[in-house]
Amino acid sequence: MGDSENLLPILITTIKESKGMERSQKLKKLAQIPGVYIPSLYQPIYDKNGKLIEVKPIASEIPKFVTKQTWQGNTLSHSTVITPDAAWPNIHMIEVVRSCPELCRFCLASYLNLPFRNSSLNEGLIPALEKGFAITKRIGLLGASISQHPEFADLIDWLNQDRFDDMRLSMSSVRATTVNLKMTRLLSKRNCKSITIAIESGSEKVRKLVNKKLSEEEIFDAAKYAKEGGLSGLKLYGMVGLPEEQQEDIEATSDLLIRLKRKNPGIRLTLGVSTFVPKAQTPFQWFGVRKEAKTRLQSLAKQLKPNGIDLRPESYGWSVIQALISRSDRRLAEVILTVQGSQNSLGEWKKAYKLIQEKRTKSNSNEQLPLWEDIVHNEWDQNNILPWMHLQDPLSYNQLIKHKENAFKH
Ligand code: SF4
Repeated sequence: MGDSENLLPILITTIKESKGMERSQKLKKLAQIPGVYIPSLYQPIYDKNGKLIEVKPIASEIPKFVTKQTWQGNTLSHSTVITPDAAWPNIHMIEVVRSCPELCRFCLASYLNLPFRNSSLNEGLIPALEKGFAITKRIGLLGASISQHPEFADLIDWLNQDRFDDMRLSMSSVRATTVNLKMTRLLSKRNCKSITIAIESGSEKVRKLVNKKLSEEEIFDAAKYAKEGGLSGLKLYGMVGLPEEQQEDIEATSDLLIRLKRKNPGIRLTLGVSTFVPKAQTPFQWFGVRKEAKTRLQSLAKQLKPNGIDLRPESYGWSVIQALISRSDRRLAEVILTVQGSQNSLGEWKKAYKLIQEKRTKSNSNEQLPLWEDIVHNEWDQNNILPWMHLQDPLSYNQLIKHKENAFKH
């Protein structure tokens, strides 16, 4: 768990040292290393209604909580294998930052990887870029919020050198407030066609609720800079089904996109939109997937497509599957095994769930499946014991509750 920079060397040494030991002894030895979680050494206890009461170690020498490894060095990771056969062919990927200081309340990339860290320009990024550029012309800058790197402006200047004129640069999404003309000009000079920003919603109320500190003016500025810098496309990420969202907030998103399109004719506008899925160890982990999300995705399509805005919705069914995996526990393992090899559709998951549920009811098993509705859709009580509470969170449970409560102080 956590960062592997420190963990891998200790893990490899311990595996070597435990050669010849019994498997159970080996696992107990490995469990002593911070960052190693061995689920079989932890026993969940449920009450007669299937409610989790606690997760405890099976022996006294096993740590009660599994801690995470946190890397604090000046460098982060980059590709070591560059091949045309990779998912992103021939690209040298460089991790610019880890975690994100913005703390949007649903965001796993931010909360799970705290604290926010960056690779230093001189010790990490420049050597990694030189190494990559020596073997490929395609460079990708990665991270949850790369433009919040404290030396990002210097990085842009460095990448602007003439010797990189045949470089093809791509970037993961950037924070809208950090988009400027210098950035978009460089991207267009480096063969990049578009820029991506996450707005989450066109409704200010919803943006505030999720802690997205972004004004409408800043979204318009980002679009203006994209166009003036010579980019042909602007991609926005949004979400539907967030807590307290109403149909009028969906209208606000369509309205914003339509106004953006009118103000910036000639620029290709795309909205990638997904359904809110609760993720463990974030302030919104207690909320479920809202069923209204499905019709809200359809309503966005109805409003945006006739206005020439390209809508790329993530399937609602797939979001439900994600939520099932995100918030369930080890009792779901048999369902996952049953679904493997099938078409991986929501229907297949429901079929597998029903099959295992019937099997366990028939055999009178004392490990019944947690209820589908409860895992996927219900809002959970804050006093519930969660299946991952024995795994150390960068923030305490009380801090997460506080962050959640702050969302509704308006
Ligand atoms: S700005 Fe993006 S990466 Fe950062 S916390 Fe918000 S959603 Fe996550």
